[in-house]
Amino acid sequence: RVKDEGRGGLRFFEASMNAQLHARRQLEQELSGAIDRDELQLFYQPIVNAKTGEIETFEALIRWRHPVRGLVSPVEFIPLAEQADLIAAIGQWVIDTACAAAATWPKPWRVSVNVSPSQFRQSDVPALAAAALARNALDANRLVIEITESVFIQDAANAVDVLSRLRRQGVHLALDDFGSGYSSLSYLQRFKFDKIKIDQSFVRRLGQSSDTLTIIHAIANLGHNLGLHVTVEGVETAEQLAILKEIGFDQMQGYLFGKPAPTLTVTDFEQARLRAMFQEPDLRAWA
Ligand code: C2E
Ligand code: MG
Ligand code: MG
Ligand code: MG
Repeated sequence: RVKDEGRGGLRFFEASMNAQLHARRQLEQELSGAIDRDELQLFYQPIVNAKTGEIETFEALIRWRHPVRGLVSPVEFIPLAEQADLIAAIGQWVIDTACAAAATWPKPWRVSVNVSPSQFRQSDVPALAAAALARNALDANRLVIEITESVFIQDAANAVDVLSRLRRQGVHLALDDFGSGYSSLSYLQRFKFDKIKIDQSFVRRLGQSSDTLTIIHAIANLGHNLGLHVTVEGVETAEQLAILKEIGFDQMQGYLFGKPAPTLTVTDFEQARLRAMFQEPDLRAWA
């Protein structure tokens, strides 16, 4: 392609590569000062009990309040942080901030924190978790660490070792985005997680083919038969909820129940709204 366009095309290609590289360097540099400038912020999204609608957990989701770009998504800057060796510092800030927040909550909800694969390898996550829990006088079982299957790819033995240390401390462990990416069922054998979170791409495809429902059902059964709790992510509509209710999950998460928000305002009214979603009589039972 580049060759076809001749020298001019190649020069253009190089120039745009340079511009991209420059933009990335600049963003990296800005990110390296983001913690000190207090630009990072955690949003919290409720995870509800799939039988009662009761809020049980909040997942902490990081945002970067960039002075010019506005709110930057973790999908954009976490990979950058990993490449620029900033992930350890950011990861420590996340665990600390999430534990400090949970310690102030009016109910003993759990806080769920995402740990990326390179952070998992680079940092001593069990030590960070222990320090953050102690500093905030938070019980270890109030903390959930979410990791994805890709932590097993480079050094599975080490990953299992680190997970076992977290387990001994009493921290809960969730396998995030299950069924997406590198998905291999053998990971379920290497370490017994407390729960699996079915990737939201499945729920998104629910309306498109009946096979999707079969697959979600099979994953839920697999998890339950292994003695794991099963969460389904990305529930956005009442129609999806109605279908998913039939499968029998432990927890659900998605915009239908609440979007990630910077401050927690769980009013009695809001909790009642969530409860009602699971108490509605199923009219089909009367037909
Ligand atoms: P994740 O851990 O799978 O988090 C769920 C993502 O789905 C979040 O995106 C959340 O806002 C979004 N989401 C929740 N419910 C719905 C829904 O009903 N519909 C749709 N379309 N989306 C929904 P977010 O906040 O942009 O985070 C994206 C990913 O970035 C996370 O995926 C996680 O892998 C990573 N991430 C977020 N915060 C952190 C962090 O503190 N540290 C690390 N290492 N990674 C993080
Ligand atoms: Mg997650
Ligand atoms: Mg996920
Ligand atoms: Mg994800």
